[in-house]
Amino acid sequence: MASPRQIHVGGVAIGGGAPVVVQSMTTTKTHDVDATLAQIERLAAAGREIVRVAVPGLPDAEALRPIVRDAPVPVIADIHFNASLALRAMDAGVAAVRINPGNIGGEAKVVQVVERAQATGTPLRIGANSGSLPDHLRWTATADPAGALVRAALEEVEILERLGFHEFKISVKSSSVPVMMAAYRQLSEQVPYPLHLGVTEAGTLLTGAVKSSIGIGSLLAQGIGDTIRVSLSTDPVEEVRVAFDILRALGLRKFGPELIACPSCGRTNVEVHELAAVVEQRLLGYREHFEVAVMGCAVNGPGEAGDADFGIAGGRDAGHIYAHGAVLRRVPQDRLVEDLFAEIDAWIAQGMPRPQRGRRKLDLPVVLTGGAA
Ligand code: SF4
Repeated sequence: MASPRQIHVGGVAIGGGAPVVVQSMTTTKTHDVDATLAQIERLAAAGREIVRVAVPGLPDAEALRPIVRDAPVPVIADIHFNASLALRAMDAGVAAVRINPGNIGGEAKVVQVVERAQATGTPLRIGANSGSLPDHLRWTATADPAGALVRAALEEVEILERLGFHEFKISVKSSSVPVMMAAYRQLSEQVPYPLHLGVTEAGTLLTGAVKSSIGIGSLLAQGIGDTIRVSLSTDPVEEVRVAFDILRALGLRKFGPELIACPSCGRTNVEVHELAAVVEQRLLGYREHFEVAVMGCAVNGPGEAGDADFGIAGGRDAGHIYAHGAVLRRVPQDRLVEDLFAEIDAWIAQGMPRPQRGRRKLDLPVVLTGGAA
């Protein structure tokens, strides 16, 4: 998106105007090939475009060849401290290697890794985390944590540039949202390379999603960032969902359905929270991009549902199904979800035609005033 330079990780373009790419990381033991591939399959099904796997030891490096061969998305090897593992990973055909040139064993080892990357056409990810800054920048970090991250990253950039290597992307992650935002902003003004955004150790599903949405989302809204990873202490499939929610909310990617749901209030006659949860769960089975509104009543319900491709608005015993700005029909409350998805499936089977419509073409049986949504 923002970075002038472009690299390719497997067949995936990063930077140079390419769409922002979603990454995540497996939580399995990489040497357990079956478990790792099974998790990669789940993540790819959820939309992940690049996967990173940890390679802490030789058994993990030896597992890379079958993983790379059978994974449905490009695989990045995450390596620290051990240059020989990075060499093995590249020989196994990984799409990229994440290293920290500062902890890979000295300049001779960095040269070895870069020469192998050049020979195999393997891009690298470099960069610093606030928790793993080099010793000489720890004092700087107490007064200027963002500046220390940028300094650390630029020192790594200088090493690679001195070796004539430019196929890399950079991260400057922190668990502090203001720090990572400041660091990425500063770095984006100083380098042309693609930037990989993330709030590291962001937290559990809710707190981590909030922090990531603010940190990653704010930077993307400013045009900074080319790949993203949402780091959550939960099933990594949730990371992918949150990442796409961020991109969808910013209008940067259209992947999968988008749910619009009212918060409900004293006017509703249905359990909107339960209804929305049921619809959201069923929408996970779709990759097509369309909008579905779940509204609690006919006050704001029809207006919001009218903007979406499909919608339902609850009522006392019966609700309404909407499609493309018009009421389709009134159905008993207990048929609302089934009939909604029958309509969606039929529409997808027809090629998802979107008829032209005005903002207010609704033929409403009930019109009230005011509303809380
Ligand atoms: S008034 Fe708004 S918030 Fe309340 S139930 Fe209706 S649509 Fe939902």
